[in-house]
Amino acid sequence: MIASNLSRTIGIAGGGVAGLTTAIQLKQSRFDPIVYEKESQVGAGRYGDYEGLENWIFPFNMAKFFRQSGFDFSSLTTHPIYRFLVHSHNSGPLTVQSNRPFFYMVKRGSGKNDLDYQLYKQCQQAGVKFELDHEAPESCQIRATGTRKAAAYIRGINFQTKLKNQVHLLLGHEFAPKGYAYLIIINGKGTLATAYKKPKDLDLDPLHNSRDYFNAFGISFTEGDSFGSRGSFSLPFGSLQPPCQVGEAGGYQDYLFGFGIRMSMMSGKAAALSILGRKKEAKEIMKSLNRKRRFSFVNRVLYERLNDNQMAVFAKKFSESPDPLSILSGAYTWNFKNILRWINIGHRYEIRPT
Ligand SMILES: Cc1cc2nc3c(=O)[nH]c(=O)nc-3n(C[C@H](O)[C@H](O)[C@H](O)COP(=O)(O)OP(=O)(O)OC[C@H]3O[C@@H](n4cnc5c(N)ncnc54)[C@H](O)[C@@H]3O)c2cc1C
Repeated sequence: MIASNLSRTIGIAGGGVAGLTTAIQLKQSRFDPIVYEKESQVGAGRYGDYEGLENWIFPFNMAKFFRQSGFDFSSLTTHPIYRFLVHSHNSGPLTVQSNRPFFYMVKRGSGKNDLDYQLYKQCQQAGVKFELDHEAPESCQIRATGTRKAAAYIRGINFQTKLKNQVHLLLGHEFAPKGYAYLIIINGKGTLATAYKKPKDLDLDPLHNSRDYFNAFGISFTEGDSFGSRGSFSLPFGSLQPPCQVGEAGGYQDYLFGFGIRMSMMSGKAAALSILGRKKEAKEIMKSLNRKRRFSFVNRVLYERLNDNQMAVFAKKFSESPDPLSILSGAYTWNFKNILRWINIGHRYEIRPT
């Protein structure tokens, strides 16, 4: 499709991070995107929980990444995390730290300090039109409507606390079968959550167990708001042909730990570039995204094979490393070892849409 053949009005279904990225990119090239969002406010369908902008899958500087996506990173409310504690089977908490931030924590929601709201504001300032409280019409060229299938579950609580800022990762079957639990406290607001695959023992309650664990560890939770969601770990490969599916609707996320914000934004940008006729750049982004997704899929398969003791060994290795971020980024790098893993494992498990 050539840009000049298109109407300059582009319908975008979904005002999440993917849809907003497509919108701001198009607006900056003098298209007229209209974002249809079914909630009455952008971010209202999120939970006010802390999520992490990971800093290892793509080797981009975060400010540059946001600038290239069309947003001003410096005006967002983020909290860089250089250090966290990892808890695993039969071992006390281990400190993991790095000179570079592991994550930039952001809150998701419609509050004034939340990522979704802040990206929305930047879109509005750029002149993007919004139809809030509006189911997207079928005619939308871009579908950015979020998760479709459930392969993993996320349950958590947001709470207020007087405890100091801290981040914990909790590993083990009883807390998060084939997944991980986390506790984040920043400036008096906390999120405790567990992301897991449904266990065979249906009596297992990972959130309850995680809560008990941190209680015993001396961290108490006041009454908070609970939330629940789901994620998809299959491998559909999105296409740039309209209607183009971006963000989680197109399966753009890291399958290992479910990090999807940056991949969603990149897929949103690729869709915009494709509409603008900048096909080569769009394809480059998709190629890079799909490579990372393949490796993240292999990483997930390997991760799911670990038992609690093996996870504890991994946690120790991680905490003892002088550069733990490089262990993480190494698992996503296009090199012989990872390609071989993909050849051996990826095709055996890959799920493609029928
Ligand atoms: C609890 C939880 C924790 C997570 N933690 C992290 C993390 O730490 N780091 C990370 O990188 N990722 C994390 N993720 C994943 C990340 O949130 C997603 O990958 C990312 O938000 C996907 O962006 P998106 O734009 O595709 O979808 P979303 O952000 O979900 O946005 C989709 C939007 O479309 C709207 N919509 C849906 N259907 C329609 C319709 N028919 N008409 C109009 N509007 C519609 C929805 O209301 C929503 O606003 C987490 C996810 C969850 C659920």
